[in-house]
Amino acid sequence: MTTPREIEIVGGGLAGLALGLGLRRAGVAATVWEAGSYPRHRVCGEFITGLGEGTIARLGLAPLLADAGRLRNVEWFFHGRAIRRQRLPAPALALSRHALDARLADAFTAAGGRLVTGSRVDPAGTPEGRVFATGRRRSKGSPWLGLKLHVRGLRLTSELEFHLGDDAYVGLCPVEGGRVNVCGLFRQRADVTGNRETVLPAYLRAAGLGALAARLAEAEICPESCSAVAGVSFDRSGPPPDGRPNLGDTFAMIPPFTGNGMAMALQSAELALDPLLAWVRGERAWAETERAIHSALRKKFARRLAVADAAHPFLHSPPRQRWLAAAARLGLVPLRPLYHLLH
Ligand SMILES: Cc1cc2nc3c(=O)[nH]c(=O)nc-3n(C[C@H](O)[C@H](O)[C@H](O)COP(=O)(O)OP(=O)(O)OC[C@H]3O[C@@H](n4cnc5c(N)ncnc54)[C@H](O)[C@@H]3O)c2cc1C
Repeated sequence: MTTPREIEIVGGGLAGLALGLGLRRAGVAATVWEAGSYPRHRVCGEFITGLGEGTIARLGLAPLLADAGRLRNVEWFFHGRAIRRQRLPAPALALSRHALDARLADAFTAAGGRLVTGSRVDPAGTPEGRVFATGRRRSKGSPWLGLKLHVRGLRLTSELEFHLGDDAYVGLCPVEGGRVNVCGLFRQRADVTGNRETVLPAYLRAAGLGALAARLAEAEICPESCSAVAGVSFDRSGPPPDGRPNLGDTFAMIPPFTGNGMAMALQSAELALDPLLAWVRGERAWAETERAIHSALRKKFARRLAVADAAHPFLHSPPRQRWLAAAARLGLVPLRPLYHLLH
């Protein structure tokens, strides 16, 4: 039976669709408003770290992730030179956003959810029962550019590769269909140009990652997968869009090197479920529901966000990268404790 009170979710990315699915599994009427459509390629490294079995079970995600890659071994490179191999404490899940978002959308509608695509909702309206999962907050002043593409025929040196270059880092992750996702965060530069397919290789060369660009040149680029996003910002110093529940990247975006943004989006959906169910049953006022969600998310994510923010400059700023690379070669970077602090 469906409840009389409905939840409206603005944004059909991972957080919004997972919340919708969780609500439908509890019999709650739910609508997701999504500006885009499915399937679609997204700028994302496409590996998920730190997603627990509890979250997967509560949101009903197991069938969607059943064929995801399970990756344990990472090789780190600094300007093309291998510096360290790492075994992750738990497997990272690997699946393209092209597949994952579409599977979530299908699961939500199959569970009786209403999905309205091609519909951008004005974020100014905040009626009761409306939750925001509209993705990262954009900042015109941010210098960070995200670029991604899929390639066929690229051999990896390890299950995951992670490359540090000048003002850049890039992850290589195998996804379904024998493809490898190549995704990087770059400081935007006026002197680097290219079309959809050539801009990522051009940024690799400008970052001192010419050897990686040469490997891409020998592989087959999947043109439909080439995506870019500018103005990626991790700045949380401004006030959050408040007076409403914000999930996923809308609550806070963790720097992508952690591979934890998608897990955070899904975990935020899980954390919002119980407060929303209490509102739907009439046991809680809306203002109290908003506060309960905000406080649950802050409690769960504050430490990992602080650690990620502190570590991030070591991944992209050349002087700190050199320090990190030297320490990593000597085995002085405590990767396992860091992983636990970041998840
Ligand atoms: C370069 C880069 C690499 C990354 N690599 C990884 C990685 O390897 N692993 C990982 O876990 N995370 C990674 N991330 C982070 C990850 O992509 C995000 O954390 C994740 O997508 C957040 O999910 P979300 O649901 O909050 O937002 P999104 O997935 O961005 O979804 C938001 C949705 O809201 C819709 N929308 C926005 N405004 C409106 C509106 N007004 N009305 C209707 N719809 C709207 C958008 O169209 C979008 O579909 C990476 C990010 C970047 C930039």
